[in-house]
Amino acid sequence: MKDYRTMENKEIKACVRCIMDNVNDPNLILDDNGVCNHCLSYDEAAAKLPDKERRESAYNSLIDKLMKEGKNKPYDAIIGISGGVDSAYLSYLAYKSGLRILLVHCDNGWDTEIAVNNIENIINKTNFSLHSVILNWEEFRDIQLSFFKAGVVDIELPYDYALMTAMYMIAKKYKIRNILSGHNLVTEGTYLPQSWVHPKMDIINIKAIHSRFGKMPMKTFPHLSPWVYSYYELTKHFRRTALLNYIDYNKQEAKEIITKVLNWRDYGGKHYESVFTRFYQGYILPQKFHIDKRQFHLSTLICSGQISRQKALDEMNIPTYVNESLFVDDFEYVKKKLGFTDTTWEEYMKAPVRQHWEYPNILDYWKQYYRLIRFLKPMRTTLRTLEKK
Ligand SMILES: [Zn+2]
Repeated sequence: MKDYRTMENKEIKACVRCIMDNVNDPNLILDDNGVCNHCLSYDEAAAKLPDKERRESAYNSLIDKLMKEGKNKPYDAIIGISGGVDSAYLSYLAYKSGLRILLVHCDNGWDTEIAVNNIENIINKTNFSLHSVILNWEEFRDIQLSFFKAGVVDIELPYDYALMTAMYMIAKKYKIRNILSGHNLVTEGTYLPQSWVHPKMDIINIKAIHSRFGKMPMKTFPHLSPWVYSYYELTKHFRRTALLNYIDYNKQEAKEIITKVLNWRDYGGKHYESVFTRFYQGYILPQKFHIDKRQFHLSTLICSGQISRQKALDEMNIPTYVNESLFVDDFEYVKKKLGFTDTTWEEYMKAPVRQHWEYPNILDYWKQYYRLIRFLKPMRTTLRTLEKK
């Protein structure tokens, strides 16, 4: 993978439409008109969504379908709830549409008080049941620390994997096929640059990094065999529906509604419902990995026409931590909770960045599978020939 961040005298290339460039995303591709691959992928995804005139009827038929499929079952669908704006508004929509929802929350020990209160308020209003998955903190901390020691970018991978896996396990238990996701094209876009994240299904990578750098065995961390997980993903065994793509989703309006109806409270930046995520996105990513996730999210808002390019550039000039005392508090809290000293923290920040692909990963696993298929194919042909004789 190219990494222009380590190249001297690089030629900076930026998209003419959004604010992505090849410094922040080394794999950025510009077309002949100077428009980047993220903008083009946004347009492609937007073209597949129902247009404004058909949106209401598409939304209503989707709700009917979810209700029909949930008939004679305890729930129509599952929603993973974080306490953030997207999952809160999604829960509100589901409640308003009369769906029977099982909320699932995965607690990794980093929830902010506001997030916890928001979840409580959502339950009070909607009366939805909540299934909480509480990760064993000592074990999860050991996994998180192993990701620090590995020097890889996606330190959120263990949590994102655990949440999705927990949802699959619970959906299976209650025989629920439908998972409603808070993802939405207009504010989140399509795919984050590949150098910023790692495929979220990669338990091989999580286990490899943990067994190399961790200190305790992985016993309670929710995980599935890569075969089962890949089967669920590839066959769409559970149907993930981005309900917010079926409405005219405006984040500001959504915030106003849930504040009024659900007594929801704002906590600042995107995904800042977790102290770790706030610190990771506000400090670790920009300082160690030279990645500012706002650049992608603001670019998406340009594509969806919610802000101008100039406004996005102005926003990028605002520091990731606007509140200096919040930064100091978070810094001390994260260091103490994870067990870093000032010296070990400094060592971590200066240590070289490593790629996830340098450690065993799901691709190695699949390659072995294909090798096995190739090995078995001639045997199968021989067997068939023998059968015919
Ligand atoms: Zn672009």
